[in-house]
Order: sequence, then structure tokens, then C-alpha cells
Amino acid sequence: TSSNVVLQIDNLESYYGPIMAIRGVSLKVHEGQIVTVLGANGAGKTTLLKTISGVMDPEKGSVQMEGTPIHAMEPDDIVRRGIVHVPEGREIFPLMTVAENIAMGAYTRKDRGNIARDEEMVYSYFPVLKDRRAQRAGTLSGGQQQMLAIGRGLMSQPKLMLLDEPSLGLSPLLTQEIFEIIVRLNREQKVTMMLVEQNAKVALDAADYGYVMELGRIVMDDKAEVLAASKDIQEFYLGVS
Ligand code: ATP
Repeated sequence: TSSNVVLQIDNLESYYGPIMAIRGVSLKVHEGQIVTVLGANGAGKTTLLKTISGVMDPEKGSVQMEGTPIHAMEPDDIVRRGIVHVPEGREIFPLMTVAENIAMGAYTRKDRGNIARDEEMVYSYFPVLKDRRAQRAGTLSGGQQQMLAIGRGLMSQPKLMLLDEPSLGLSPLLTQEIFEIIVRLNREQKVTMMLVEQNAKVALDAADYGYVMELGRIVMDDKAEVLAASKDIQEFYLGVS
């Protein structure tokens, strides 16, 4: 059906030592959708993504991928299950070339034969990366590094891509360009997207559904167009008064 749940999170709690950063979060991501998690700096958005991708282990609660609990799995196994995390700040390998960074994204795969085909797929979405494939990644602009981080993530053949602030540090024009590509990847490559953003405007424009986080909790959730029309969202996240 069209409403298959890819990711289901129930009553999740995550800590940094004594600090409780995720305070009982429950949410669902449906197959084929773009879901955004909005919230101010420090709301817990990054921590939520880290807990899903296995970089952090939750103290309580569960994360299920297509019905299988994954919250006790290692990050590599979570990638093999089809979840890839494109981290905040991109975290590309600056001394490696663009092509080497993209190849690194396929590290969990066994089907070596299809890798070249997928590299071409990545370059078709990001032609500038093809032009610069022999260049060290650290010499790319911020927008190109974001493209590279997404392209590298695609090489694991994800069902679900977790994107942490894809607009961070980018101009409005580049942000628009990145979001257009995210929407195309969702439609054309059938990658379900969960993206966290402080830029509520672009995120809600692209998304089907949204969750709003404050202080480690979900305080609101609805269809993206309903959130975009809500007074509270307009006041606190869209800068409309
Ligand atoms: P940002 O947009 O700044 O990434 P966020 O919504 O992603 O914000 P988190 O980074 O998940 O928020 O932070 C949630 C809470 O956890 C905050 O109170 C933050 O201070 C705290 N926190 C985050 N990282 C650490 C850490 N490494 N050690 C201790 N506390 C942390």
C-alpha cells in the first residue's frame, strides 16, 4: 500500500551523560514521503538522527526499520538495512578526491558490479561533481560539499536518507537548488527522506509531513501544508508576525 511505514520510533530517550536530549519521542515515516523535523537550535534534532543511525544508543524506547528493531544494531548494519545518515556539516573526507569520497559511500555493498552504474546516477544529479571528480573534496565550495555528502550517501542504495540541515551555511539560491534535488531523488530514485532543518520555509515546501521538536520532545505534527498555515509555526519558525 501507499502507507507502508518505513521507520517507526516509539518512546525514544537518548542522553549525553546525565543530559536527557531526547525525551520520549514517537514518530513514523511512511514509504516514499519526505518528512521534516523542525526545531530551534538545541531542540534535539541532530541527536534524534544520530540515535536512528546508531551513532548513539538510546536509553529507552525503540527504533524499527520496516518492522525490525534496529536500535541495538551497529551503524554499519543499519546502513545495510537501508538507512543512510548525511550528517550536519557534511563530514566529507577533505584530502580524498570527489570520486574517492563517492566510492567510500559504497563500502557496505557486495554487488561491486552495479557500483559504476550508481556513480553515474549520482553524477547525473550533480554534474558539477563529475567535472571535479579528480579534485580534493576539501577544495569544494560549501554547496558542492553538501552535494558530495548526499551523493556519497546515495551510493549505499538507501531506502531512507537522514539529512541533517542540508541548508546549513548555504545561500538561499543554493539551498533552493539542493532542495530541488532532494525532491527529485525522492520521486525518481524512490528514496524516502527524513530531514531536519532550522529553515522551516524550504523544509515545509519540500515535505509531505512535519514534526516540530522543542526541548527533546515532539510538540506538534501534521501534514506539511497544515504546519505551514499554522499561526504558531508562522510566528516561531517562519518569521511571520
Ligand atoms: P542543532 O541545530 O544545533 O544541531 P539540534 O536540535 O540538532 O540543534 P542537538 O544537537 O540534538 O539539537 O542537541 C540537543 C541537546 O543535547 C542540546 O541541549 C545540546 O546542548 C545537547 N548536546 C548535544 N550534543 C551534546 C554533546 N556532545 N554533549 C553534551 N550535550 C550535548
